[in-house]
Amino acid sequence: MTVHTGYIEVKTKGENDILDITEKVAEMIDLSGIGDGIACVFVSGSTGAITTLEYEPGLLKDLPDALEQMMPKDKVYEHHLRWQDGNGHSHVRAAILGPSVSIPIISGKLALGTWQQIVFIELDARGRERELIVQIVGE
Ligand code: ZN
Repeated sequence: MTVHTGYIEVKTKGENDILDITEKVAEMIDLSGIGDGIACVFVSGSTGAITTLEYEPGLLKDLPDALEQMMPKDKVYEHHLRWQDGNGHSHVRAAILGPSVSIPIISGKLALGTWQQIVFIELDARGRERELIVQIVGE
């Protein structure tokens, strides 16, 4: 069994910027030479999230709309009262969505559905530079 660790640098435009990172992860798997195993994609930071989504324009609006309904930006957040940084909603949304996904690798390919992409979602109130970690474990 071997472990490969790689990084994906992304620069986001601001809140609710959703980036399709599937191809970059797939390239890393190709380069690793791993046939069967697992890929973990992780953001180290508490105002971003990684999940899977059908990457199409409708859902790129629907997901932020749903987050706004569930965790509205204009509600009073204790985090903001404490730190005055205006991103209490960002932290709560990030915690609910989660910072990582783990995807099986079968015969050198990510076991994703046809309409399933790996996405990074910027949830912070401003654009950020992010370093996403991809760890590939297998043989
Ligand atoms: Zn904060």
